[in-house]
Amino acid sequence: MTGVATASLRQATPATASDPRAALTRCAWILADEGHESGLAGQLTARGPRDGTFWTLPLGLAFDEADDASWLLIDDALNVLEGVGSYGIREPNPATRFHLWVYRARADVQAIVHTHPPAASALAAAAQPLVVAHMDATPLFDDIAFLPDWPGLPTADREGELIAAALGTKHALLLAHHGLLAAGRGVAEATFLAVFIERMARLQIDAAKVGGARAVDGGEARRARDFLRTDRIMNATFDAWARRAGRRRGRDGVAS
Ligand SMILES: [Zn+2]
Repeated sequence: MTGVATASLRQATPATASDPRAALTRCAWILADEGHESGLAGQLTARGPRDGTFWTLPLGLAFDEADDASWLLIDDALNVLEGVGSYGIREPNPATRFHLWVYRARADVQAIVHTHPPAASALAAAAQPLVVAHMDATPLFDDIAFLPDWPGLPTADREGELIAAALGTKHALLLAHHGLLAAGRGVAEATFLAVFIERMARLQIDAAKVGGARAVDGGEARRARDFLRTDRIMNATFDAWARRAGRRRGRDGVAS
């Protein structure tokens, strides 16, 4: 059911070895602007310059506070290899551990967004999968999985195994009783998917008041997805959101 879809998507974007920190910072600002902040919950990561290394924010740093210099380079045991952190904090969020399971399982994944935003959390609390019922949801057509059981705080390896298995070959995952995960071939794709999961979760809840979300035709959804998930569209969207985030902060929103 997923083979053709994900195979065609995977060919669209080559892996990049460039430094992702500027893009990660803009991702953090965008997600803050989109209401994804939830206490200490939520982590953003991207692959580092060497195998088995990853960039992540210090524990407790709000997305809104992220700066290009904030990122910590960690190894696959969560040891900090590089980076000074922010506000004297130089330890990664222990929940970053489950990201590492996804990276191990998925060589194509370069960046992961995991957040607990309000609407996706409402669907998660109701244990309801996301319905692709609107054009803006079609980027997720046949590419968002659903994990119906909450395995507990994602700080141990068991949770990582379950989450990586639930994601399978897809690029997005709604975790019942928990939140969302977007696994991108780059920071722009992970951000793009995370933002639209939350917006479409909000739409699904709103639509429930007027008869309920009705899935769009699968063939049309697939064609729309294959257009909207091109690098050109995702990068242009990410860049516009990043410029908006930069303007709001009196900062440079351009990530590259
Ligand atoms: Zn979480």
